[in-house]
Amino acid sequence: MTQKPFRISDDQYKNIYENAVEGILHSSFQGIILASNPTMSRMLGYNSKDEFIKFINEESGSFFAEQTSYDEFLMLLKSYDTVSNFECKFLCKDRNIIWVSIHARVLTDNDNKIIESFIQDITVRKMVEEALQTAYEEMEKRVEERTFELKNANKAKGDFLANMSHEIRTPMNGIIGMVGLLLDTNLTQEQIDCAKTIKNSADSLLDIINDILDFSKIDAGKFKLENIEFDIRKIVEDVADLLALKAHQKNIEFATVVHHEVPSFVKGDPGRLRQILLNLSGNSVKFTDKGDVAIRVNLEAETEKNITIKFMVIDTGIGIPEHNQEVLFKSFSQVDNTSTRKYGGTGLGLAISKQLTELMNGNIGLTSKSGKGSTFWFTAVFEKSAITQTILPALPINISGKRMIIIEDNISNREAFCTYLSSWGCQVSLASNGKELLDLLYNASTKGEPFHAVILDQMISDMTPEMIGHAIKSNPYLKDIVLILITSLGLRGDAARFKDIGFAAYLTKPVKRSQLYECMLMVFGENYTKSEEKEYKEVFVTKHSIEEAKKSKIRILLAEDNPVNQKLALRLLAKLGYKADVVGNGKEAIKVLTDKYYDIVLMDMQMPEMDGYEASKVIRDTNSSVCNHNIIIIAMTAHAMKGDREKCIESGMDDYVSKPIQPEKLSQTLEKQLSRINVK
Ligand code: ADP
Repeated sequence: MTQKPFRISDDQYKNIYENAVEGILHSSFQGIILASNPTMSRMLGYNSKDEFIKFINEESGSFFAEQTSYDEFLMLLKSYDTVSNFECKFLCKDRNIIWVSIHARVLTDNDNKIIESFIQDITVRKMVEEALQTAYEEMEKRVEERTFELKNANKAKGDFLANMSHEIRTPMNGIIGMVGLLLDTNLTQEQIDCAKTIKNSADSLLDIINDILDFSKIDAGKFKLENIEFDIRKIVEDVADLLALKAHQKNIEFATVVHHEVPSFVKGDPGRLRQILLNLSGNSVKFTDKGDVAIRVNLEAETEKNITIKFMVIDTGIGIPEHNQEVLFKSFSQVDNTSTRKYGGTGLGLAISKQLTELMNGNIGLTSKSGKGSTFWFTAVFEKSAITQTILPALPINISGKRMIIIEDNISNREAFCTYLSSWGCQVSLASNGKELLDLLYNASTKGEPFHAVILDQMISDMTPEMIGHAIKSNPYLKDIVLILITSLGLRGDAARFKDIGFAAYLTKPVKRSQLYECMLMVFGENYTKSEEKEYKEVFVTKHSIEEAKKSKIRILLAEDNPVNQKLALRLLAKLGYKADVVGNGKEAIKVLTDKYYDIVLMDMQMPEMDGYEASKVIRDTNSSVCNHNIIIIAMTAHAMKGDREKCIESGMDDYVSKPIQPEKLSQTLEKQLSRINVK
């Protein structure tokens, strides 16, 4: 059976009209209300629809609260014949305002156009919306104000820290300087102890202040990194040098291993790299009482222009519980922050390291277990340098193919020695104890392929190095093997004792790559003329003699007109272990530099005939006759004025010392400049 179509009767329509929840209104375009349902009149507070219609049509004229919205409403209807969701305000009988939403359309009734509107009271929704909007605006305002306050406070904090640190630093420098001078005078032992304690305390205080200064500078965004060429290996070895003494005092090993893929030269900020490494390795030494600390450096990634290097500082110390690891890189945080804690510190080191690595576009992190040691690592991105290799001086002898045997417990040191020796073409073997070493030496000798050298660590499990030394030197088949002792202890008188046993070299850890290289050069000085060889062989190789030998090979020219100053400078240089030739003016300097190869010229700026500026220009001029246009030129001038340095650098000079020359400053400048070149 099919359903009969449903038809709504007129009564039903009326019912809907009368009882609808929406207000329904019919009106003319002139604003006359033609009809309204009861909901509509109730909505506006009238007792009946008749009252409503009468009041509007005869008295008020409109129930729109704002004429502009009424005009807009009409305009929309005229244009589109229908309007949806038109939101506006209506005026109630009691002059209160309500919010409504209107759906309306235009109908035609007996050729007249009328408006049919369905009206919903949305006052509650609007109130909620308005309250939300006000709250939101209020919140935005508060956030803005707070951000402004915080920014100001942060800047004020940064400025305050920077100013305060600077203010404290100035008198601290005075204290440190004066104590230094005091220590140079005649003091009793007790006075020396007191003065040294003052110096040590002042030094540590200065370290803390420097930390705070750095931190506040980075925090305030005032920190700029340098971008200069430097040697990564040198920085790592410098750090090892600085910490070696402390490590040895605690009887722990300190080793460095730089992977052979890591280029030596890069462009970046060497001072800041050193600072991060010092922070991390300083912590490792501080928090390790047994075992060893190692710095390992690997190549992480490479692009056409940049190179990312990963540095790891590994220790076997107290470790850090996992729940404490997260906060470590925040400022002023320490695992143990009780006042009775065993280890001192500000808790700033890691925060600064993190900021610095971020400035170097790198990351920092750690893996650690309580009681099991820690590995702190960081990465840094450097620009590639045009210099790709560390140029070690060509050996006067060829050590390639020499058979070496290493006996060393510490894995990192062993790896470092193996890497260095192999890269110079040596054949490297390992022995794990004294007995095995002697067996290997005998076997090789009987096979007719004797080892040429033994690199021996002082700490061997089964025999003392003296026993091994005697065993080798008293055996006619082994006695020619060169013995090199590596020691962590460096006790007074030890070197002489080992020399007597027949050791050729005695090196204290950490042994730098360049030192091992110089050592090889000295112990295998085979192709020197007989008399030189004798002289060489008689030299017992130590770090000291390596330095001496290196310095004595450096060719320095002193250009200075004043005889007293000449004498003074020569004496100073001699005291530092250097020899130099002297000329009296720029013209003579050019002549000598044309005839002979020099590594450095110390150039007085004011000289008769040709002054230092002009002489430097001639030297740098590739058309001039001097044989080394790249010679290091260090200016010496009496004007310690601001801008002098720039003037010297502009004239092609590399560095600058002011007169009167201070021995320490001269020594530092020479070392800094010499580290850039390798003397052949
Ligand atoms: P501090 O000046 O106190 O050493 P740092 O920021 O350098 O400041 O280190 C913060 C804390 O991290 C240290 O106080 C220590 O608790 C912990 N820490 C850092 N390095 C090590 C480490 N190698 N072994 C154990 N704990 C470490």
